[in-house]
Amino acid sequence: MSRNFGYNYHSHTYRCGHAIGDEFEMVECAIRHNYKIFGVSDHVFLPGIPQPGVRGDFECYDEYISNLKYLKKKYQGKIELYSAFECEDYGDKFNDYYLSCLQKGDVDYLILGQHCKLNEEGTDAEMYHYKSHPIETLHEYTDHLIRGMETGLYIYVCHPDLFHKFLHGWNEEFEECSKRIIAKAVELDIPLEINMLMSRTEKDVDENGDRVFSYPCNEFWDLASKMGAKCILGVDAHDPRHLYTTEFAEFRKFIKRHHLKPLTKLDVEAYKKKVFDRYGLTKKAN
Ligand SMILES: [Zn+2]
Ligand SMILES: [Zn+2]
Repeated sequence: MSRNFGYNYHSHTYRCGHAIGDEFEMVECAIRHNYKIFGVSDHVFLPGIPQPGVRGDFECYDEYISNLKYLKKKYQGKIELYSAFECEDYGDKFNDYYLSCLQKGDVDYLILGQHCKLNEEGTDAEMYHYKSHPIETLHEYTDHLIRGMETGLYIYVCHPDLFHKFLHGWNEEFEECSKRIIAKAVELDIPLEINMLMSRTEKDVDENGDRVFSYPCNEFWDLASKMGAKCILGVDAHDPRHLYTTEFAEFRKFIKRHHLKPLTKLDVEAYKKKVFDRYGLTKKAN
């Protein structure tokens, strides 16, 4: 067991259908393991689009939010606790809904994790088609991620190099898309996440004995480092045990190797103010 980073803004609950544990277990485990800042950021529940195994039904919304409100009160002073969602950008389709979650104070922040896109009819969400159309899909993913960043709705971008889980190796196209993503993050001052999820299952090492992951991808993070992107680490916990079984020591080596200096805290209030100002919102009492 290696020492955690003391913060984590990215964790899930059983509701998404591919995680274990609820918000009580997640938060209480974080407290036991000395996290000072913690966010529960389940895959966003979408009205009208059930995706079993990917995200919880929209009916989960009230319980999730009210449990997190209860936990924040209960553990006030013990841990800096946030409620959040991990969202995909779907063009304009859900931006008003995402904004309303923030405006009602139901969630404190949104993180952008681009796993899916809308189908052609715009009626349902589907996974990207990396297998059948690798390069086309890489560009599509890049465009969608950038479109999401440009909305200003997100406090950070989760696993920006997620494409590398499906597309192996490295080539000019990968480099070009990575540069576009990183340049946009630098321009808009949005941190990119060094996601620690894959380290829990991928155990490959290179000739120096350093661990190699599909993501975080070495080539991507060399570019991010050179281009001066802000970064932050994320456990992406899908089980409370991930809060202490993740090999944090490997990531201390990873950031050193890539000369990265991850943030240790996000300014959630400043982010909210920025979103509210941009969209002309006032805080709704609830
Ligand atoms: Zn997940
Ligand atoms: Zn994700």
